[in-house]
Parts: sequence; structure tokens; C-alpha cells
Amino acid sequence: MASHAKPAGSGTKRIKGKIIILEDRCKGCDFCVEHCPRDVLGISTQFNEKGYHPPEVINEENCTFCGLCERICPDFAIYITTEEEVEEVKPEVKKVYANRNKNLPIVKSTMKGEFFMQGDIACAEGAIAAGCRFFGGYPITPASEIAERMAYRLPMLDGVFIQFEDEIASMASIIGASFAGMKSFTATSGPGISLMTENIGLGMMMEAPCVVVNVQRGSPSTGLPTSWGQSDMMQAKWGSHGDYGSISLCPKSPQEIFDLTIRAFNLAEKYRLPVFIMTDAIVGHMTEKVVIPPVEEIEIFDRKYTNKSTDKYLPYEIGKSMIPDFAKAGDGYRYHTTGLTHDERGYPDMTEQCQKSVVTRLVEKITKNIDDIMMIEEIDIEGADVIVVCYGITARTVIPAIEKAKKKGIKVGYMRLITVWPFPEQRIKELSRKCAGFVVPELNLGQIALEVERCAFPDARTKGVTHAGGGIHDFNDIVKAIEEVAHGKK
Ligand code: SF4
Ligand code: SF4
Repeated sequence: MASHAKPAGSGTKRIKGKIIILEDRCKGCDFCVEHCPRDVLGISTQFNEKGYHPPEVINEENCTFCGLCERICPDFAIYITTEEEVEEVKPEVKKVYANRNKNLPIVKSTMKGEFFMQGDIACAEGAIAAGCRFFGGYPITPASEIAERMAYRLPMLDGVFIQFEDEIASMASIIGASFAGMKSFTATSGPGISLMTENIGLGMMMEAPCVVVNVQRGSPSTGLPTSWGQSDMMQAKWGSHGDYGSISLCPKSPQEIFDLTIRAFNLAEKYRLPVFIMTDAIVGHMTEKVVIPPVEEIEIFDRKYTNKSTDKYLPYEIGKSMIPDFAKAGDGYRYHTTGLTHDERGYPDMTEQCQKSVVTRLVEKITKNIDDIMMIEEIDIEGADVIVVCYGITARTVIPAIEKAKKKGIKVGYMRLITVWPFPEQRIKELSRKCAGFVVPELNLGQIALEVERCAFPDARTKGVTHAGGGIHDFNDIVKAIEEVAHGKK
């Protein structure tokens, strides 16, 4: 849905737009009426086909097109559209929509400007900006808004949205779409990732560029469907069977979801693998300012196609980059691919030597390019006694704890893992020689804390601040951990 209206602001040009109510979808909960800050909406005396009273617009001139009614409606029965984003409807798109809802607005393919946007929506817009035109998925809280947005946007971009029967098929579909030449992605949460894992392994083995978004919730199993956690971090590294390199990006805000979704597509195309975006229900459902630059300013990496002739091309021939070149589907190239261990023709090869060469390359194409892939943010690291290592939403909750610990005279550094995988092993090792230790707050029972401990020299202490999810840390617990590590300094 369109959550991209500019907020009401003094001195800004008045936005013209339209409030659209899909009356027969409405269940009469009145959320939109109650929450509209400008009393634009009232309850109609009319009944809809379900027997409810839908909202009606009673003060249209007061509307600032803030989009709050749209975001709050549990049934996607109301949304707003602004004039600047409505463009001429293409006849083929009109045909698709004629069978669905004639009122749906058509939005420009490339949005740009400043928006008040939900994280999940920013993820979908980031994918579109990266050139993604295929989404295969199955709805699941708290990732459903990504599918909703893609279902709404892709048909008007000549893209394809398919809701499958489950996540197994969804993952298989994006691998297929990728091999057909499309940038593709899926979005789900923990239980969905669990179903996808075998096909994620297939994507790793076939080297299929695609993006998998995990909006994490409280786990395991069904856990806390509408709440949050960060407990799938190890699953992103070790979820599917076998050895392979993983790339996982952890945004902390809607803006970063937009930016990192583009980066995830770029990395997927460059290194040929499914790339994870590990967000969570807080960041996914958070609404903040998102700036979308003009399309010409967005850096896009497209996959490398072979320049060899059809008789010379081998689908898994490796050059210096360790990444095989693609051939364009339909261009006459013979292409064989499989989940089996394979030679450079893509044909099964069950020898020990081939297994070693394939699996080693799947790992080393990531580890040997770590400087290109890895992103970390460091603040006040030099001279720090204690370094707080954090990622995703936890990177925001640690800030007041760090400030409080600094007021107590402790030198605290901040290290945010924007890419959790590949893990910054060498950097942790290097820092562990200089500081008393690390504090690792996360919404799980110590997954990344163990990784930090593994990489640090034994003299440096590592203290995890665990939380099972469904809430956020009490910042005093983080302060206490910082003090304990600082005071243990030799
Ligand atoms: S867009 Fe904002 S101001 Fe307009 S009706 Fe919805 S909530 Fe009210
Ligand atoms: S929030 Fe949605 S379902 Fe509830 S009254 Fe408004 S339009 Fe209807």
C-alpha cells in the first residue's frame, strides 16, 4: 500500500491526493476514524456487503495525506494516493486491474524523494529500485507487508508476483526466476525460513543470485508471531546443510532497509548466491523518514554474462574472480545446472576432488572477498576499554547504555555489524588485543556473543547480554555488563 505521502509540514507545498476506501473489505473496526489526527474520517451510516459500517470522508480538505489510516487498517481497506505519483495507466496494466479493483492507483516505477515509510515497505521499494521484478512468497507476520507491497507494485512494472502454496515452492521459484534472468526475492519470517532451507542450499550450490528477507520474530517454532527477536542469526549462516559462504545484512532502520536491500541485490549478483537481509519485527514495522534518491544516483550491479560463443561456454567455468559467468537464457547456450556436485559443464561429478573444489570455492568466494563485502560501523573504538558489539534493532537500544557507562568514566566503543556474515573475525581479533573485552547485547540467548568469543584472544572477556525476544533490553543490564567487563581489565 502507498505509505509514501509527505507528512504534514509547515512551509511545504500542499499535497493533493485522494483517500480511497475499499468499502467491502472493511470490517468496521473504526481504527482509521479514531486515529486520524485531522478528523477527516467518520463512520458511514451505510452497510457494506459484510454488514459493517465502513468509514467515509467527512473533511477531505483537512487531510494531509499522512498515510496513518492506511497503515493502521488491519484489512488494507483504506489507502491514500497523491497526485504526483499517479500516472497514465498502460492498457495492459489496466486489463490486469480491470479484474481486480478499478480504484487501484498506478504509481511511478521509480519513486524518489522523502517519505514517511514503514520498514517492510522500504524493503519492497529497495528491491524495486535494485531492479527486482519477481517476487515469490507466502505471507507471514511480520513480513506480509513486503509481499503486499510487491503484489501491488510489480504488475504495474511488468514484473511478476506469485503467492505460492508454501515457502518451499517460494524459494524454488526465485531460484528459477533468477536463472531465467530476473532479479528475484522472497520475504518471510523464521518458520518460513525453516521451510526454505533446503532450497536455500540448492541456491547456494547452483549459485543463484537472489535475496531472502527474514523479518525475525520470537522463535522457535511459531513462537511470537507478532513480536520480535534476533534468534535466527545462526540459521542464516548454518541453516541449510553443507558448507557454503553466507552474506547476511542487518539493517537498523527503514532507511537502512531500503539501502541494504539494494546492496543485497548487488552482492547477490556479484557473488552469485542467495543473500540474506536479517531484519526483525521492530525495524520491519517501524515507520520513519526514508529518502529515495533519483534512480540515476543508485548504484546497481548487474550479473556478468559471458562473452564466449555458444560452443565455448561452460556454465561453471571459473576465472580469476571465482565466480562463473552467466549465459542469457534463450540465447542458444547449453546450460546444465544441478544441486549435485558438478564439474564446469554443470554435469554431476561424484569425485572427491570435484567435491573439494566446488565446496571450497562456495566458501572462499565470500571469505576471500570479505573486504569488499563486509560493512561495520565503529565509533570511539580507538582506546576503548570495552567494545559493545551490536546489530539490527539492538544497535539502537545500546546507545543510552553506552552514554551512561561513559558518564561513569568508562571508555566504551561501539561496533555495529551491518554485515553479520561474513563475520569480522580479524577485526575482533585485532581489537581484542587492545581492550578489556566485549559486551554483546542481542535478542537471543547468545548467538553472536559466542562468535565474538571464538574470535577474541582469551585475555579479552566476552559478555553476552541475552534477551529471549518479545521486548527489548533494559539498558541498565547493558550498563552492568559494560562495568563488569571494564572492571575485569588487567
Ligand atoms: S491520510 Fe492522514 S489525515 Fe488523511 S484521512 Fe488518513 S489519517 Fe487522516
Ligand atoms: S481501519 Fe480499515 S477495517 Fe477498520 S474501519 Fe477503517 S477501513 Fe474499515
